[in-house]
Amino acid sequence: MLNFELYNPTNYVFGKDQTAKLADLVPKNTKILLAYGGGSIFKNGVYDQVKAALTGVEIIEFGGIEPNPRYETLMKAVEIIRRENIGFILAVGGGSVIDGVKFISAAVKFDGNPMDILHKRLLIKDITQVIPFGTVLTLPATGSEMNSGAVITINETQEKLSFGGSALFPRFSICDPTVIESLPKRQIQNGIVDAFTHVMEQYLTYPTDALLQDRLAESILQTLVEIGPGVAENPTDYKLASNFMWCATMALNGLIQKGVPTDWATHMIGHELTALYEIDHARTLAIIGPNLYRVMFDTKKEKLAQYGERVFNVQGNSIEEKAQKAIEKTEAFFHKMGMLTRLSENTEQYEGTADFIVKRFEERGWVAMGEQQNITPEKVREIVEMSY
Ligand code: NAP
Ligand code: FE
Repeated sequence: MLNFELYNPTNYVFGKDQTAKLADLVPKNTKILLAYGGGSIFKNGVYDQVKAALTGVEIIEFGGIEPNPRYETLMKAVEIIRRENIGFILAVGGGSVIDGVKFISAAVKFDGNPMDILHKRLLIKDITQVIPFGTVLTLPATGSEMNSGAVITINETQEKLSFGGSALFPRFSICDPTVIESLPKRQIQNGIVDAFTHVMEQYLTYPTDALLQDRLAESILQTLVEIGPGVAENPTDYKLASNFMWCATMALNGLIQKGVPTDWATHMIGHELTALYEIDHARTLAIIGPNLYRVMFDTKKEKLAQYGERVFNVQGNSIEEKAQKAIEKTEAFFHKMGMLTRLSENTEQYEGTADFIVKRFEERGWVAMGEQQNITPEKVREIVEMSY
């Protein structure tokens, strides 16, 4: 097992009616920026719950954070915070609103051009100066409610880039599974597949001798397979909804990545597909993931075989046969979750995608990805072309 530090300060507040606890969770005598997205919180009652809990608190609202949050939009909130002397941000929404708030939180205090937080991510040692924030989660998927990472899109350059920092954990996250009732089926399907792929990025790696992390990862995968189709059909089923929400958080709150090598190349390639074609984040992962396992078969086959046996009960006479079946089972699960796993099924203009992505990655110096640094530009090309 690799050495690790486990640090996660987020106060995770889970269950029905927990939004009422907001008044005790936000800092006293502080002006708050209430950040939200396109307005779903007005239709499903979450806004009313938040306002009721925060009666008497001085609040300035900032709406319009897009899915795949935009740098340009977020900078408007940065201005408001500076101008209004705001001391705390409350993110009410899904991964996009929470990620957007992480960027706002870091940008307000950033010494320099905030664009560098995204462009020079690897050069910035750590982001320690932030405006503190909490979240009310409305969409289980990203784990952003209990981690310190975020993904931001820059309109001007059509780039989708991630960043993070040890000060960017939410102070608290209110996670009430009944919010799932108002989610469109497509977003529930996305949430299951995003969470599933988060586990795969941290589990389907080699070498590893972290036996407990393997079992933890497999249990999240098994649970997502068990509940995924059901919760998409019956979002009012609290047993399914509560397990979905907790799985999505557990998939990316840092716990299962301790002591193991991680991959993340499926996400890095997937982000490009969203930046280019606006394909939903989870859908890009369903397109890329299985083909990455195919192209990187020799590196990943032993773990794929273990995954196939333990998560899908596949049988076979060899490692290769079990690994192959595991990939097929993964793709079949994604199909069951409503994913179209070919790029051409998601966008008409896909010709040249591989060239574009490979060029971009080379410009950024991303020439050795994956846990073994063996996902080279040639491999990226093969993966993307296989996905057409
Ligand atoms: P999202 O982009 O936050 O939301 C998708 C849509 O769902 C929005 O239109 C939103 O509407 C709507 N919605 C949210 N909650 C709803 C509810 N309860 N009822 C009805 N509609 C609701 O989706 P997401 O999948 O959570 O986040 C995706 C983003 O997170 C991507 O940018 C992805 O790259 C990023 N991501 C981050 C991490 C991380 O660790 N930080 C990990 C993976 C992915 P409104 O805008 O109107 O609210
Ligand atoms: Fe993701």
